[in-house]
Amino acid sequence: MPSDNNKFLQLVAPGVRALQPYLPGKPVEELERELGIRNVIKLASNENPFGPSPRALAAANAVIGGIARYPDGSCWQLAAALGQRHRVDPGCITLGNGSNDVLDLVARVFLTPAHEAVFSRHAFAVYPIAVQAVGARARVAAAHDGSRGPAYGHDLDAMRACVGPDTRVVFIANPNNPTGGWLDAAALEAFIADLPAHVMVVVDEAYSEYVEQAAYPDTTQWLERFANLIVTRTFSKAYGLAGLRVGYAVSHPQVAALLNRVRQPFNVNLVAQAAALAALDDHAHIAETVQGNREGMRQLLDGFSALRLTWIESVGNFVAVDTGRTGSDVYAALLREGVIVRPVANYEMPNHLRITVGSREQNTRFLEALEKVLS
Ligand SMILES: *Cc1c(COP(=O)(O)O)cnc(C)c1O
Repeated sequence: MPSDNNKFLQLVAPGVRALQPYLPGKPVEELERELGIRNVIKLASNENPFGPSPRALAAANAVIGGIARYPDGSCWQLAAALGQRHRVDPGCITLGNGSNDVLDLVARVFLTPAHEAVFSRHAFAVYPIAVQAVGARARVAAAHDGSRGPAYGHDLDAMRACVGPDTRVVFIANPNNPTGGWLDAAALEAFIADLPAHVMVVVDEAYSEYVEQAAYPDTTQWLERFANLIVTRTFSKAYGLAGLRVGYAVSHPQVAALLNRVRQPFNVNLVAQAAALAALDDHAHIAETVQGNREGMRQLLDGFSALRLTWIESVGNFVAVDTGRTGSDVYAALLREGVIVRPVANYEMPNHLRITVGSREQNTRFLEALEKVLS
């Protein structure tokens, strides 16, 4: 938290003055230090509980000796592979130090204090930070209340109504974090088609690998129709490479060229590039991850049902459960049981906790701890 008596406050850029930093999930080591215990489990940051592809680990090990040299600043090999994967020219790919880096690039390229960005209530917390950091204004659209669409979900009509002459960027998380809701191809396509040409639309697909619904779109195939579309993906979630920091955007090559103007020259490190490249081809690892997630989600939901708790239907590798009381209290009680989850009061969901789907053993331990702290 930035304290109000920070003596440099008068010097900082206006957008930074009131900025609250992103609150990451609590690290396992931190809680183990604090409680003097071991075997803490963390279901707080939507990481892959099954780990990365063995191929990615082998590739990382194979290049680690070369880290005296700078990485390839153009990420040539990885961009080529991603171009092939998405059937687009490699010039459409912008690599980032995680996809958060790419979201930041978009804000820096398209937003100024004279401009606005639109996103939904309960949407991913990095959007307001990226927007505010460049001094732009955020227009936060009301989310669905459950009457015309899934509660907490993006209300595309409300979002469209927030778009005005000063809007330059719309952020859509599909599926969204922390709610887990998603938009189908028809709805999303109609929304994008209706946007004025002066508005870039970012579709953040950090969890796309997990989504099994047939109506979920592959928006990377829409670039020819929509020059203002920027799709972001990441290796942090299903690919299990969160610690290495690799994400990317797929966009019109002229948009990619603009993002590239402000991108740091070596923003994706050498080990990350090699591991991501190797991970990309390990389809079995992704398939096993998705299956493990499906089973783990079932286990969590069965556990919630048994405890008579309700949750928001999620297609990701996490689920927001309504604890029926103040979520941060339940969070704190779970910490004392050695279980780290994510409070989401900062998303205006004070009674919910967001739980990452873990391995079978982790889910069991979490559910036992939850039952204990709720009773
Ligand atoms: C986790 C997440 C990201 C990915 O962040 P990285 O910087 O790629 O690790 C992006 N968007 C959403 C909605 C997320 O939940």
